Amino acid sequence: MANLTQKYIDIVKDRYPNEPEFLQTVEEVLTSIEPVVEAHPEYIESGLMDRIIEPERMIQFRVPWMDDEGKAHVNRGWRVQFNSALGPYKGGIRFAPNVYPGILKFLAFEQIFKNSLTGLPIGGGKGGSDFDPNGKSNNEIMRFCQSFVTELYKYVGPNEDDPAGDMGVGGREIGYIMGQYKRLTNQYDGTFSGKGTENGGLYGRTEATGYGIVFFAREVLKHFGETLDGKTAVISGFGNVAWGTTQKLEQLGAKVIAFSGPDGYILDEAGVTGEKVDYLLELRASGKNICAPYAEKFAGAKFFPGEKPWGVKADLYIPCAMQNDIQLEHAKQLVENGARYLIEGANMPTTNEAIQYLQAHNVVVGPSKAANAGGVACSCLEMSQNAQHIVFSAEDVYAKLEGIMVNIFKQIEDACDQYNLGENFVAGANIAGFERVAKAMMWQGLV
Ligand code: GLU
Repeated sequence: MANLTQKYIDIVKDRYPNEPEFLQTVEEVLTSIEPVVEAHPEYIESGLMDRIIEPERMIQFRVPWMDDEGKAHVNRGWRVQFNSALGPYKGGIRFAPNVYPGILKFLAFEQIFKNSLTGLPIGGGKGGSDFDPNGKSNNEIMRFCQSFVTELYKYVGPNEDDPAGDMGVGGREIGYIMGQYKRLTNQYDGTFSGKGTENGGLYGRTEATGYGIVFFAREVLKHFGETLDGKTAVISGFGNVAWGTTQKLEQLGAKVIAFSGPDGYILDEAGVTGEKVDYLLELRASGKNICAPYAEKFAGAKFFPGEKPWGVKADLYIPCAMQNDIQLEHAKQLVENGARYLIEGANMPTTNEAIQYLQAHNVVVGPSKAANAGGVACSCLEMSQNAQHIVFSAEDVYAKLEGIMVNIFKQIEDACDQYNLGENFVAGANIAGFERVAKAMMWQGLV
């Protein structure tokens, strides 16, 4: 059986030799779904396995824009429409200089199984550009977003493909994108999610990913007879995901004692709570470094310039920055510290070898495609709200989000039981996510 899986991994390796991130996620997912494929020879006979590793469609386009000095620039834009077995393609748009097809394919592939775990009718996609938003003026951002969507609008729509934000794309960018989309199509619809609440956006969407991560962490702890009460957490990053996570941890009785920014990390044993969280939001909005000013303002906080926070002892570790944040050397540090729980907030923040090392040393890993699925789940609620021309209350959203996260963990537990996986929640999530997609694909025939 392992040879068979290797065959599909090798196909990806041969086709995309220069896309290591894509290969990394394919290897992780295919290896863990082996027992399901073994039980379903029709998945191989029908070409389902060949199809699941190849995007249905990938669009690449030129994005010309002019800076404030009147100088012309050209970036590249993409949309990967990976799998629509469960519904319209759904996934964010990322603007960052390191974006290229390999990153977007990895994110879109992850998105297929993440979206499946939510139980909602959404397929998997992802898009973006190698545009660097850092240091750009508001007008430059607007012109870039307008140019980007002037090509993208041809391929998206409320029942076709529904992008949202991701790194470098927040409410402001979605607003500019939606404005231009409306001008081009004359449609005010739910094609884009993560909109402002005055524009059809969902109450609670901004904090949804972080809140979902904490609900998921709570379920993981519950599985082991523990609660969040009094627990300490170390997180990385300070975007929306980290912010929502910090806030929800505090609400549920835990506290963040260390976090990182582009300039290093902060250790604040008293806890990043209350006005400190608000201050971080302020700093982030200013586009400046996060840690140094925090340490200046709050006595007792220690700043470690240029370092990652994984050497700090805590009950929970929640990487919320970006892919491959935790490498083997950091996994070793965590194990030395007696780490027990790693809940992945960012997409694929841990390398495959680091996950294997952690699991071999009894660290429970809550995989990102489950833990951070609350964001996209709430995007789907936004699509639903727009399609019905109504507005859900924040309380409604929080309650639905909590139910979705509880259900995701339940599916993982069931898969772990069914396939004797013990507490390998990484494999359980891949299996539960894959099973739903595979059934839908079989139903639709060879397309
Ligand atoms: N970018 C987010 C993710 O990685 C959200 C995607 C969405 O809301 O469509 O899941």
